[in-house]
Amino acid sequence: MVVLPLSQHVGAPCEPLIQVGDKVKAGQKVAESSAFCSAPIHSPVFGEVKAIEPHLTFTSAKVMSIVIAPFEEQQEERIVVPRDETELTPEVIREIVKEAGIVGLGGAAFPTHVKLSPPKEKPIDTVIINGCECEPYLTVDHRNLLEKPEKIIDGLKLIMKTVSAKQGYIAIEDNKPDAIETILKHCEKEVEIDVVALKTKYPQGAEKQLIKAILKREVPSGGLPFDVGALVQNVGTTIAISEAVREGKPLIERIITVSGQGIKEAKNLLVKIGTLARELIDFCGDVVGETGKIIFGGPMTGYALFTLDVPVVKGTSGIVVIPKKMTPELRDQIDLCIRCGRCVEACPSRIMPNFILDFTLAEKLDLVEKYGVLDCIECGCCGFVCPTKRPFVQLIRYAKGKILEEKKA
Ligand code: SF4
Ligand code: SF4
Repeated sequence: MVVLPLSQHVGAPCEPLIQVGDKVKAGQKVAESSAFCSAPIHSPVFGEVKAIEPHLTFTSAKVMSIVIAPFEEQQEERIVVPRDETELTPEVIREIVKEAGIVGLGGAAFPTHVKLSPPKEKPIDTVIINGCECEPYLTVDHRNLLEKPEKIIDGLKLIMKTVSAKQGYIAIEDNKPDAIETILKHCEKEVEIDVVALKTKYPQGAEKQLIKAILKREVPSGGLPFDVGALVQNVGTTIAISEAVREGKPLIERIITVSGQGIKEAKNLLVKIGTLARELIDFCGDVVGETGKIIFGGPMTGYALFTLDVPVVKGTSGIVVIPKKMTPELRDQIDLCIRCGRCVEACPSRIMPNFILDFTLAEKLDLVEKYGVLDCIECGCCGFVCPTKRPFVQLIRYAKGKILEEKKA
């Protein structure tokens, strides 16, 4: 079975285009939205639609989802794309990216065609491909850099063409020397593309940190990369763009890392979107010993699961199994702060996480916003260094949700 939540990215949820009992091909569009900030969903398998019903997702929310049972024999459908390079105008590339349902594969899952449509008054001069992958355990981008360098370079050129950027960078942390060497070799003749080796440092892969490290430009508080003429795309997303434009392949599968000391055999797997976490854990030989946490995503920014019956979505970069002995005890006293200041020192967004937490617990949302919670990139550094182990990211996500809800009302 594959389970496709109709809301699996930032933006408007999709509406189903099929009904229970329909037969759908792999690659067929099964849901879409008329909203600009949304991405259609395609069936990853040739099969029969068994249900359209609420299903649990990794955030613990129940989301309306399409459930498809695959047939044994598989048939695939592709998007029609121009064969002639001259027909690939920026508008055509944007449309293919949209039709292919591509979203940011680094975790944020922002619809890519929206990112490729910056406002006219904010021209982009530089595109940065983010190959830093700074979260512990995850190695998807590292493998992609080693195995698909041609597609990364092709995707980068397509992005540069779409937004009329003159300079491209491929940024890789210096703990991946083999990836740097591979990409450098493939970029020898590319005069507009530079490969940059960056210090291995968490969260080097965060958009704003990457722009600061490479271009020395600071994205203003509340701003976006296009405010400083930059666009950042993840390595996997760049490959997906190349595959959509050159091969007409919609986003129906992705690579994810299954890792952690609590899994029998760590692996990188190419999986269909909609595969249940339980199947992937079983495929890797099941958990070993006493499990503390199973995290969807990386250990710093991911979500702890309370059931394995949740599907892989487009933004899922990994599943990490942490043994009990490595999991900190949950504490009742979440308001205990000894004013050591470590969270403030660690925060890459230069906000004051301790005060944000205090104001969140006091439900003073105006102060939470004033102290810059919307600039938080949810990197988890504050929680990692806090000696009293306060649940920062969980409360920050709660506060952000409340503030954005109030703004919409
Ligand atoms: S998670 Fe914590 S350290 Fe990271 S940006 Fe947000 S407040 Fe700062
Ligand atoms: S690290 Fe923890 S204890 Fe120290 S100031 Fe921040 S919230 Fe308080």
